[in-house]
Amino acid sequence: MHNTSRSVAIIDLGAMGHNLAEVKRLARDKKIIAMVKGNAYGHGLVGTATFLADKVDYFGVAFVEEAIELRENGIKTPILVFNPTLPEQFDDYFKYNIDHTVASISALHDLDTKAKKRGIEIKVHLKIDTGMMRLGIRYTNAQNLLRKASEVKNSQVVSVFSHFATSDEENLDFANLQLERFKKVIKFYDEQKQKPLFHMANSAAIIRLPESHFDMVRPGIMMYGYHPSEFTRSCAKLCPALTWKAKATYFKVILKDHPVSYGGTWVAPENVRAVTIPIGYADGFRRMLSNKGDVLIRGKKYSVIGNVCMDQTVIKIGEGEAYKGDDVVIIGKQGDQEITAEDMAAKLDTISYEVLTGIMKRVERVYI
Ligand SMILES: *Cc1c(COP(=O)(O)O)cnc(C)c1O
Repeated sequence: MHNTSRSVAIIDLGAMGHNLAEVKRLARDKKIIAMVKGNAYGHGLVGTATFLADKVDYFGVAFVEEAIELRENGIKTPILVFNPTLPEQFDDYFKYNIDHTVASISALHDLDTKAKKRGIEIKVHLKIDTGMMRLGIRYTNAQNLLRKASEVKNSQVVSVFSHFATSDEENLDFANLQLERFKKVIKFYDEQKQKPLFHMANSAAIIRLPESHFDMVRPGIMMYGYHPSEFTRSCAKLCPALTWKAKATYFKVILKDHPVSYGGTWVAPENVRAVTIPIGYADGFRRMLSNKGDVLIRGKKYSVIGNVCMDQTVIKIGEGEAYKGDDVVIIGKQGDQEITAEDMAAKLDTISYEVLTGIMKRVERVYI
């Protein structure tokens, strides 16, 4: 499994399956749109989707290129692209049977006109902005889009959806306000014969806002084993699916008073035992972890010394025993110790999402 000097990310599909079961326990009998954008939150787009393909109803990606990659790798599950369609991408959506996000009346008009010209039918999902202020027709104006969508002939409205801005915050007032706005918008369908699917819930809302589950839920981070925030922790039991590992490439003793790495930002206060690991900021081990990050070796936590380089980092092992060839865990468990993506995120003043998606492509993904 480790016949490369580069680090690997080992994805535990059993853990992912467990997390998906938690989604299904919380959102009983709802359809699932598995969010696999951002290289499946760093877990590898195709490998993750291949595992999930027969367990979910839809895949959600940000860009049509991701959807094409899935199709070219044999994924037949319906796919929704969450960014609006560029005119020049229209034929790719059709060729690969990919659904469109529609966030305005003019976009619907353009897509439907194109579809009519080609004599085809396309699948669209209408995006309503209930407060995120990112994408979507404003909820106050949404009726016009829904009406137009019920009139056009070549666009099938598969779903109508919105997105929470604060479902992971302690205070749910704004999330509840968004929910109320969305409910008003979809009242439009009370008088329609055909109802599309409604969906709004991200991981935090799956865990905390059952009322927002509607017909379909959109889990992201929780499928990968992390909580969206500390406020969702009590209600779901999740297992991180990703372990990031390397092997120490070099062992040495750094003599007292000798500086380490670029800039000499760390100077040995005495003779210090150290190993070099083949991981750097070009892997997504951020330079901000210089003199700050830690890793696990032989079941103990050891610190980064000096600046993180592009491809290598030096670890102080103190009195512990560690040598060239030892397993090094950057994210994951070893013995009774664990470093989570959240631990790393705390040191970087960010969230687990950014740490996970920041693990670069050159780190091979291995599925077990
Ligand atoms: C990313 C995303 C999600 C999933 O969010 P998590 O917090 O990771 O569960 C759901 N819906 C949309 C539209 C998204 O962009």
